[in-house]
Amino acid sequence: MKQVEGRIKQIFEQVVRRNPGEAEFHQAVKEVIDCLGPVLVKHPHYADQKIIERICEPERQIIFRVPWIDDHGEVHINRGFRVQFNSVLGPYKGGLRFHPSVYLGIIKFLGFEQIFKNAVTGMPIGGAKGGSDFDPKGRSDAEVMRFCQSFMTELHRHLGEYTDVPAGDIGVGAREIGYLFGQFKRMTNRYESGVITGKSPLWGGALVRRESTGYGCVFFVDEMLKARGQSLEGMTCVVSGSGNVAIYAMEKLQQLGAKVVACSDSNGVIHDATGIKLDTVKRLKEVERRRIRDYVQVHREAHYSEGGCIWDIACQVAIPGATENELDERAARTLLANGCIAVGEGANMPSTPGAVKLFVESGIAYGPGKAANGGGVSTSALEMQQNASRDAWTFEFTEQRLREIMSNIHRSCYETAEEYGSPGNYVIGANIAGFKRVAEAMLAFGVI
Ligand code: NDP
Repeated sequence: MKQVEGRIKQIFEQVVRRNPGEAEFHQAVKEVIDCLGPVLVKHPHYADQKIIERICEPERQIIFRVPWIDDHGEVHINRGFRVQFNSVLGPYKGGLRFHPSVYLGIIKFLGFEQIFKNAVTGMPIGGAKGGSDFDPKGRSDAEVMRFCQSFMTELHRHLGEYTDVPAGDIGVGAREIGYLFGQFKRMTNRYESGVITGKSPLWGGALVRRESTGYGCVFFVDEMLKARGQSLEGMTCVVSGSGNVAIYAMEKLQQLGAKVVACSDSNGVIHDATGIKLDTVKRLKEVERRRIRDYVQVHREAHYSEGGCIWDIACQVAIPGATENELDERAARTLLANGCIAVGEGANMPSTPGAVKLFVESGIAYGPGKAANGGGVSTSALEMQQNASRDAWTFEFTEQRLREIMSNIHRSCYETAEEYGSPGNYVIGANIAGFKRVAEAMLAFGVI
């Protein structure tokens, strides 16, 4: 085991050396490979064939210029990215993020996570991620359209339903997916529905895709609680963010009888002890594109805290649903001290390594994003299935499929954690289960 640990340390040092300045990517790699010691001991040929080293190197990285003109005639230049990380299980699959914080290291961390997340779903999809440092906030629809058209003018040549299938992520919702698909169709003269997911159900999108990451995350939490003889009913919950993932996590929590008392955006936190009124959040965020602080204009009983920390609000279930590293060690300590018994990560890598350590050591039900937020990409795969067969499923049927997939992801992580001597540790379960599926396919394909 000592020898294997030395090897893993060497691999990590090499990743840091070869990818300087990409802190989030380093963090994501470390989290995965630190779980793999027992796997290499059991399967030494993974080490001989340098599977980990190969997985850490993306198959292809595309970086491109995205010039566009704003409503006043001024020219802007953004940078576009697509990191096609691994395609042994299927076409590259992973969302696009438009946010000013985007740089290569963010896209690589997200793409790397996506490989294992997609593998754990059991669906035939590879891992990728993309995006741009473009900020859609405050931009008119026409500006967002011109940006999306310019972005797709370059990206289209790298996509295809059998090659690479993007979807949404932060800053890329139904509006952006529409503009992106429209430009793809125009450039290629092909109505290739399966080239992008998260489309409107009016033109090839799957019902439930919009709800799927949030719903799926809550289903995962429900499974973790069930495994402990508990349920969500009556639980007090806090959900960070108020975007796609957060809104539909809140919706499913409420449907399952839990009480959501807080949500947030990047400016501040709403605490509504009488229960968050989701209709208001949806109107503010999905329709009017306003700030969450405006919630208190309608619901005077609620409290808004500018720059506040949502994790200071006492809850039994916490769903980080905003962004990476939003929940640090101090926040984790506060959550645990306030009686939190379950954390389900709707966002990607929202907990810092210190917070993860505390959650795992405390023995609470902790579902890492790689497992808990896999409902989004799974429903994207269901959308691809419907596109390939030119079919459209009902909401009820699709939600039932999502529920089953989340239950399977839970079982796979749970059983793998037990097999490797860490019962109840979903971090180990998800990382090992995902890694093994990818590793086996890579071995089968030879050195490629
Ligand atoms: P949205 O853009 O719809 O919403 C993001 C939310 O998080 C907004 O409330 C936003 O606030 C907040 N937020 C974003 N960046 C920051 C930041 N730096 N600090 C504080 N708050 C921030 O994105 P999604 O809901 O789609 O994505 C949320 C998370 O879920 C991301 O980690 C994403 O990678 C992950 N995810 C998404 C999937 C999907 O299907 N959409 C699938 C799997 C994971 P504001 O409006 O003020 O910026």
